[in-house]
Order: sequence, then structure tokens, then C-alpha cells
Amino acid sequence: MSTERIGIIGAGIVGLALARWITEHRPGVRVTVVDKEDRVAAHQTGHNSGVVHAGLYYRPGSLKAVLSRRGTALLRDYCAERGLPYDEIGKVLVAATRDDAARLDDVRRTAEANGVPGIRMLGPDGLRDLEPHVAGRAALHSPSTAITDYIAVAESLADDVRRSGGRVHLGAPVIALRQDADGAEILTGDPHGERVRRRFDTLVICAGLHGDRLARMAGADDDLRVVPFRGQYHELAADRRHLVRGLVYPVPDPRYPFLGVHLTRHVHGEVMAGPNAMLAAAREGYRLRDVAPADLRDTLTWPGFWRLARRHWAVGAREMAVSASRAAFAREARRLVPEITTADLRPAPAGVRAQALTRGGDLLDDFAVSTHGRVVCVRNAPSPAATSALAIAEHLGAAYLPAR
Ligand SMILES: Cc1cc2nc3c(=O)[nH]c(=O)nc-3n(C[C@H](O)[C@H](O)[C@H](O)COP(=O)(O)OP(=O)(O)OC[C@H]3O[C@@H](n4cnc5c(N)ncnc54)[C@H](O)[C@@H]3O)c2cc1C
Repeated sequence: MSTERIGIIGAGIVGLALARWITEHRPGVRVTVVDKEDRVAAHQTGHNSGVVHAGLYYRPGSLKAVLSRRGTALLRDYCAERGLPYDEIGKVLVAATRDDAARLDDVRRTAEANGVPGIRMLGPDGLRDLEPHVAGRAALHSPSTAITDYIAVAESLADDVRRSGGRVHLGAPVIALRQDADGAEILTGDPHGERVRRRFDTLVICAGLHGDRLARMAGADDDLRVVPFRGQYHELAADRRHLVRGLVYPVPDPRYPFLGVHLTRHVHGEVMAGPNAMLAAAREGYRLRDVAPADLRDTLTWPGFWRLARRHWAVGAREMAVSASRAAFAREARRLVPEITTADLRPAPAGVRAQALTRGGDLLDDFAVSTHGRVVCVRNAPSPAATSALAIAEHLGAAYLPAR
């Protein structure tokens, strides 16, 4: 009997976690990961806030709710085993207005339904004890929300895969994909023009910002488009880091759950304000001036984009203003920490979120996966997919890979 071969496109945290799961749970299967970049974690995994989300706001029963809880436990154990940073510095969700305070109670109920441990409501005094420089009329504290270094986690997963006999080919962009009844074949090219054909029994696409394009090549319906949202960060000056001890977030607006500048401490001590969310003119557009005509065309020709824009143009305009001006960014951060001034903020590298958008103009909220013949496509893996990656891998392995 010939060896079963599974290919994975994408050496972000999702693809690598799946590759490791296969090496651990499907002995004898040969796993190969390919990525177009010359390093792992080059895109979303390497440009995020580094937060391990405890599962406070996800709809109970959703994949996000279930897999973030499971993923947190798996990631904590994995980091402990490998000596990787994992620090439960805790998070406060801060209510500035009466409306926020009412929504905070909804979040508490959702968090309880999701089984988030240790959460408690705080009044202004309790908030001051935890975060002396943060202002608010009430807060919800999640002590188990943690921070980690997702690049280090991804590198460690890749090492595990290699050590177990799997392969991780970097600098190998997939430029063509086709499948027949027995398997799927990809063609990769490298900067020196060398083309390599690789054939697998099963192929899994974990390609983040390019996931929709590869899914279409695999025969998926043209029902979702990845729309890139750029998230700008600013770093707090070193002598102002004491203003934030842990993770400080506004109460999310249920209509725009990923909006709202927050303040996050990172594993090496830096404190970041951000990210905001603004439509990017390039899928890997880390700078405001980056434009990729093909990416922009993909967004602007998508009917869902115009429906979204019509409904939310005012919010979009505000996010653009915040991206363009440090003073506007500081104003947002001051809603949480009144002492922050424009002079305290330094521009820091941005990230770009891959967000699936339907034809009808709805942002797909939950994680989404579909199968097309021999190809499994991860169609939507936005935050908290880094938190959840080890559990997403289990889910993909159990529900989507052929049983042995
Ligand atoms: C600003 C920001 C902040 C975030 N904060 C958090 C957070 O605090 N906590 C959290 O849990 N999540 C957070 N997220 C979300 C999280 O980072 C992502 O959900 C997660 O990293 C997705 O991982 P991935 O492996 O699916 O995608 P990626 O990390 O984007 O990996 C996809 C890989 O596919 C490769 N690829 C694409 N096309 C091809 C091709 N044609 N050929 C070969 N390779 C290809 C890319 O090079 C890339 O390496 C944040 C995201 C952003 C952008």
C-alpha cells in the first residue's frame, strides 16, 4: 500500500498546527506544508496583537466559542512544554458610558455561557486597583486572558513537523492547482523560476489572505471574497508603558465587534495601542500607501463590498481618519487611558486581517471550512484563530481529513 500524502498550503499558525496534528495523530501519513514566503508566520500570524483570547464574546456554541476555549487550554500546555512565552496578564473590558455598562452585562452572560473561568464585574474602585490609569464606570475582568508570541509558536510547530519527518517548503508560491478523483496537484514556482509539481491524496488550503483565490481554483463556489482590513498600531513610548498593566479593551459594539482601539501589553514589555480596521488596497498592504491593483479590483468588483460600504460608510470614514492621524489615534486611546497624549505614541508595524465577505455584504463571523473533492478549504479564520489554532487543527483533522 502506498503512503498517504497530505499537502497543506500556508505556513501560518493554522496550517502548521494542522501539520503537527497529522504527524502526531496519523502516523505513516506524509505531510508537506508549502508557503510562498521565505519564513513561517509571515502574514497574519506574525502581525497580530499576541493575545490569547479567553472566549468572552463569541456566540455560545459557535466554532469560535468552542475552539477558542479548547485552543486556549491546548496552547497554554504547548507553551509550557516548549518553554514558550505564555503570560496570563488578564484583560479588562471597560465601560465608559451607561450604554457600554448595559452591554458589559451581555458580555458577562456570554462569557459565562462559554465557560470562561474567573470573570468578575468591577466598579470604578476595582478597576483602579487593577489598572490605576484606566478610567471607566464599570469593567469586566478576565484574569485568564493571556499573551504569547505567535511567531515563536509557529516556528516551534514547524520544528515539530520537521522533526517528525514532515516537510515545510518555504519560498514556494502555489501558482496552479487542479484535482481529479484520486488526488490534488499543485504547481509551485520560486523566485529563480523553478517550477515544482506536487501531488497529494488530500490537500488543505490554510492560505489566509489568499484563501478565497485558492479555494476557487479548487472548485469552491464564488460565494465569499476575502476583504483585507488593515489594522494600524501605535506603540506607547517606553517611559509611558506603566500606564497599562495588562490588556485594556472597550466594550465591543456588537455591530462592529473588531473595532475599537485597545491597549495590549506584549511579551517583551511593549504596549501597543490598536489595531483599528480600515479597508486595505492590497491584501498584504502593511503600509497606508500600498496598492495592489488586482487585490483592489477583487474588492471593488465584489457586490458584497458595495452593500457593506453603503451600510457602514460613516464608520469606514472614521476608521480612515484614525489611520491617517496620530492625534485621532491618541483620542481613541484616551477613551480608555485619559493620560495618553499624541506625543506618547510612535507608529508601529500594521497587520492585515483576512475577513470573508458574502455577496450579500455580510462579514462572515464564524470560522468556516468547506470541502471540494480532494481539497479542504479554510474559508474564514479571523481572530481568534491564532488562539484557537491547535483546536482548529483537531477539528479539521477529525471532521475533514479522511479517516484511516
Ligand atoms: C491586526 C491583527 C490582530 C490580530 N490579533 C489577534 C490576537 O490577538 N489573537 C488571535 O487569536 N488572533 C488575532 N488575529 C487573527 C490571527 O492572527 C489570524 O486569525 C491567524 O493568524 C490566521 O492564521 P492563518 O494560518 O489562517 O493565516 P496566515 O497567518 O495569514 O497564514 C497564511 C499563509 O498562507 C500563505 N499563502 C497564501 N497564499 C499562498 C500561496 N498562493 N502559495 C503558498 N502560500 C500561500 C501565506 O504566505 C501565509 O504564510 C489578529 C489578526 C490581525 C491581522
